[in-house]
Amino acid sequence: MQIHFIPAAQLKPKPESDFGFGKIFTDYMFEMDYDEQLGWHDAQIRPYGPLKLDPASLVLHYAQETFEGLKAYRTEDGRILLFRPEMNARRLIQSNQRLCMPEIPEALFLECLEALLRVERDWVPIAPSSLYIRPFVFATEAAVGVHPSSKYKFMILLSPVGAYYADGLNPVRIYVEDEYIRATPGGTGAVKCGGNYAASIIAQAQAARCGFSQVLWLDGKERKYVEEVGTMNVMFKIKGQLITAPLDGTILPGITRDSILHLMREHGLSVKERPLTIDELMDAGRTGQLEEAFGTGTAAVISPIGQLHYKGETIRIHNEKIGPLTQWLYDTLTGIQWGRIPDSYGWTHE
Ligand code: PMP
Repeated sequence: MQIHFIPAAQLKPKPESDFGFGKIFTDYMFEMDYDEQLGWHDAQIRPYGPLKLDPASLVLHYAQETFEGLKAYRTEDGRILLFRPEMNARRLIQSNQRLCMPEIPEALFLECLEALLRVERDWVPIAPSSLYIRPFVFATEAAVGVHPSSKYKFMILLSPVGAYYADGLNPVRIYVEDEYIRATPGGTGAVKCGGNYAASIIAQAQAARCGFSQVLWLDGKERKYVEEVGTMNVMFKIKGQLITAPLDGTILPGITRDSILHLMREHGLSVKERPLTIDELMDAGRTGQLEEAFGTGTAAVISPIGQLHYKGETIRIHNEKIGPLTQWLYDTLTGIQWGRIPDSYGWTHE
């Protein structure tokens, strides 16, 4: 692996706070190429900057692209922790298989990530900020015509991010989307590819114009079952039991989701992965049986839901306040991520 260092005087000033989300990038980025003869080769860490890309690169036309998202956290005693990064490596393998792209073996993915983080460790901010990590792979063969590319690039960018909610955990308003869909069986809903997000922007933008922060996606066949919320998995506490959609191929297998299911089961709390209809959910909301609701994902960790809006009806959840289970899960997960709570699960990776 080659590292092209920047003279110290030319490094960017590191902002103290006010990072926003995903707007500031660090001094360096990671880049590695793939072709059929050499496989993955020419790994390098070089100054962050524009790419030279042939305009016929397949990714620009047919969206052969996959990505990941995870964070590095700085502990109070200055260590840098990743949270279950091997899960991101495995999910990227699944995504690449689905999009007919070459896999990056788990050990190689972790090696590239750690190399870049070693160079950029001073960029990992202190809590409640963290360093967002964006690995991505895209097709670079210059050709027009739909076929698997023979060339790819794997890159990693780093971006310091502030606490997702500047004023703490605030319940959000959610619009239940009953026109557009995110995924259908046999499609790409279970993998992380840019195309999924491109197709979702219209619904998100419409909801935002009406004052909602995210959409709740229903299934693509019948628009009957609850699937995900925006870029998060979603969980509902109904009559004492936490319910979330099963991993049936149309929802993304979130790492936060998996961690919460583990925590719940470990503590003997009632949790069920099962299909949940929007009708059952709205009924539970009307009768006061819907006790808590939240989205789960790397960016916000847990995002409490205060309101659900479906076909002109609004239900309010837990008086639009954070519920005790939501708060406990947030405190426990972020406690482990920042090394404040001992990690008895082996989830943190120093
Ligand atoms: N669903 C979608 C569509 C997402 O984009 C994300 C974010 N990666 C998630 C769920 C949550 O996944 P994770 O907990 O691994 O961040």
